[in-house]
Amino acid sequence: VRLRDAPSPNHDARPEGAPIDVLVLHYTGMPDEAAALARLTDPAAEVSAHYLVSEDGAVTRLVAEARRAWHAGVSQWRGHSGLNGRSIGIEVVNPGHDWGYRDFPALQLGALSALCRDILARHPIPARNVVAHSDIAPDRKQDPGELFDWKGLARDGVGLWPGPWQGAAPSAAEAPALLARIGYRTDLPLPVLLRAFQRHWRPARVDGVADAETLARLAAVAGAASPPA
Ligand SMILES: [Zn+2]
Repeated sequence: VRLRDAPSPNHDARPEGAPIDVLVLHYTGMPDEAAALARLTDPAAEVSAHYLVSEDGAVTRLVAEARRAWHAGVSQWRGHSGLNGRSIGIEVVNPGHDWGYRDFPALQLGALSALCRDILARHPIPARNVVAHSDIAPDRKQDPGELFDWKGLARDGVGLWPGPWQGAAPSAAEAPALLARIGYRTDLPLPVLLRAFQRHWRPARVDGVADAETLARLAAVAGAASPPA
């Protein structure tokens, strides 16, 4: 991965003894890359990420991995909260839902995949902890959204993308327990959680409804994230 540096002042020390075991993917959600880079390096904005991946595949390092970047905000995954302390954050340039959400170019996804594989080689990050901002903040965030190629990343060894569910179809009543097994917080309305889940693992329809396909997908992802002992 060829890196250029654009140091952001927006970082601090990681908590003592915290492992780096979560990788959080975002979109920038700004009209263009220049605006996003300006914000991610503006001390007044108090936001950052470790890396920014351009639409042409350029990778910019903003914060050293040893430091805590400020990208996740109020967040929760697998019982941990405040995930900046234990995560690496990558901003993927895309205008997002507010400014003209569009496909992520192949060059960008290729560079992102290589960057993620580098990071996974350096830190003990399990596949189930490669997450969207929307997974860890389902009530606030939609990024990187349903156009993001999670399946392609998983083909490269980055994140979870199980095949079709072969077992018995779960009932709708089992949805909260399956979401919890994957890692979602469960103290939010079920449709909010289901939309976050669908955005990542069933992007064809993001409607918050526990239909048969969503339930089967939930079972498949839960089985891959937390296999029965
Ligand atoms: Zn984000």
